[in-house]
Amino acid sequence: MASTAELMREIHRLRRFARDLKEQMDRAPLQLKAQQAKVARQEEAANSNLEAIKRLKVTIHDKEVTLKTTHNQIAKHQKQLNEAGAKKEYDALQTEIAGARVKCSELEEESLVAMGESEERAAKAPELEKAAKASKEAFVQYEKESSARMATLKHQLDETQAKVKEVEANVPKNVRSVFDRIVKGKGADAFAPVVDHGCGACRTEIIAQQYNELLMGAFVVCKSCGRILYLPEQAATGNDEAE
Ligand SMILES: [Zn+2]
Repeated sequence: MASTAELMREIHRLRRFARDLKEQMDRAPLQLKAQQAKVARQEEAANSNLEAIKRLKVTIHDKEVTLKTTHNQIAKHQKQLNEAGAKKEYDALQTEIAGARVKCSELEEESLVAMGESEERAAKAPELEKAAKASKEAFVQYEKESSARMATLKHQLDETQAKVKEVEANVPKNVRSVFDRIVKGKGADAFAPVVDHGCGACRTEIIAQQYNELLMGAFVVCKSCGRILYLPEQAATGNDEAE
């Protein structure tokens, strides 16, 4: 039969494994949510790009209409200029025409800028849509696999927990209550291997007597952090330093 120290090593391994499985299961919904958020972000980027293109088209159209109207005004004023009698009227029309011409060149420039941006956005659109589609597909796949993964984790966890129960049934009766108390308080962290004659968790040195007890396979608790100590596999077999 396994010594208490060997038993503690095995319990520690099983309990840590169970904790890892549990953590993986706990993280799964968060990972799914993060994937979903990524899809939403990429879809939003593609959509807002298309929206911007639409708005730019409207802007360009409006400016073209205004430009046409202004050109007509200039033509009208030029016609009036030829028929103008008084100098005052002539000067006023000249001022109007000059102002309209400034407005036209401003509108042309603004249209060019809007067209440039629209072209840039149109060029980017397929790439954005492709990225959104790809991440959506990846999410669907991930979601599908996720439930299978969760089922596997759940199965492994159930198995491991059953194994923990089975192995812990071998904890000697005389230390059982101490064992239960420590495990209840610390869970998978209730155990620590001995490393360099010290507690592997809190690094406190282990006195010779305790070390000898461990070598004899006894139940030993770290005097400093209260963890259940065990010897790592090599030391416990006792022949690692012989060679
Ligand atoms: Zn310790």
